[in-house]
Amino acid sequence: MPTLDASTLLLDAPHGCAICRARHLSYFGSKDFGHAGNDHFSGSRTFADYGVLIPYFQCRECGFVFTQAFDAWSPEDFVEHIYNDDYHLSDPPFLDIRPAGNARMIWASLRQRLQNGALLDFGGGNGSFARHLRRLGAEAYSFDPHFGQVDEQASQRTFDVVTSFEVIEHVPHRGQHGWMQQLADFMREDGRSLAVISTETVPVGHDIHWWYICPRNGHISLHSPQSLARLAAASGLQVSPIQPGLFALAAPGCAGEVSRLIAGWQTTDEAAAAH
Ligand SMILES: [Zn+2]
Repeated sequence: MPTLDASTLLLDAPHGCAICRARHLSYFGSKDFGHAGNDHFSGSRTFADYGVLIPYFQCRECGFVFTQAFDAWSPEDFVEHIYNDDYHLSDPPFLDIRPAGNARMIWASLRQRLQNGALLDFGGGNGSFARHLRRLGAEAYSFDPHFGQVDEQASQRTFDVVTSFEVIEHVPHRGQHGWMQQLADFMREDGRSLAVISTETVPVGHDIHWWYICPRNGHISLHSPQSLARLAAASGLQVSPIQPGLFALAAPGCAGEVSRLIAGWQTTDEAAAAH
């Protein structure tokens, strides 16, 4: 059995919601640390149980679901137990399949913008998505503070498009507002930039057994549509759903343009077929 020292975890109930500041939380349930997202796709468990239950809580006001179990962990602790050499087993498409598909989707859907501007992939891991986009013809950079500075110049400027795929659910609850503000700071000051982020939102009526709650993947902050809207609004951004699990974020004044972009959006399957 893999080991995890439970004494490093904060297993009691949190005092409030970091997104909306409400004090009223409900216990959402507990799940063994070993649950991984790949279990859902492969139909069997990727990792054995660790024998350590991770409790999740839900804000009754905004619907945000989170665990504070890892609040005392250092970045090194996360690397040792989650983002280690076995991480790709918990999420096999992470390495290249998803970045390649996302790059085709973004190029097909935002081609006009990208032919006249630059893109930053915020939390872009090893930079694979940005590399695929550059091959397609875009000026694209990757920035991920936890992966070293993949494209170093990227942190010094603003961008026409900012993407962040499957990142926000990994950000600890207390870091959510800072993370969203950092994303907003990469957008142009004139309010003309567009951000596209992906994350699965908590389905109504689901409980701790929902597959996307998988601590071994580092899924520790799960948004409802309401909590995501409140978080974005605090950084001056309005959220518009593109398709399930995919959202456009932009200044409220861009609503008309965002609607047009969404109307012409291509899914990864459509973009792959056209490629
Ligand atoms: Zn809340």
